[in-house]
Amino acid sequence: MVAVNDGTLSYDEANLILAIVSQGAVVKRSRKMGMYDCVKYKMDCPECGKKLDSFQSKDGKCMLAQIEFWEVNNFYDLCGNCGAWIEFNRIKPRKREPIKDYKLTVKKRDDT
Ligand SMILES: [Zn+2]
Repeated sequence: MVAVNDGTLSYDEANLILAIVSQGAVVKRSRKMGMYDCVKYKMDCPECGKKLDSFQSKDGKCMLAQIEFWEVNNFYDLCGNCGAWIEFNRIKPRKREPIKDYKLTVKKRDDT
């Protein structure tokens, strides 16, 4: 039903997966490369106060890239001090942005 062929999710697919995650089911997605991306977000552990700065997400291309939290719907970290699992899930879905918010690039493809 959810066909992911280029690593990107449609609006509906992302919402479906979020719904599944919120129900506590294990979401398994096949990936060709890497395991996760590193999310550039820092906070103090809500439980023990230790600085958390190694958040990860599987929403992106999972190529160990450095990404911003607003690029993904879900990211998480495990506190190495107290063992607390810290997880963020986007409450509102990513908005459908107008095409003017995209930069257009046109290139002749000579590599095919
Ligand atoms: Zn902690």
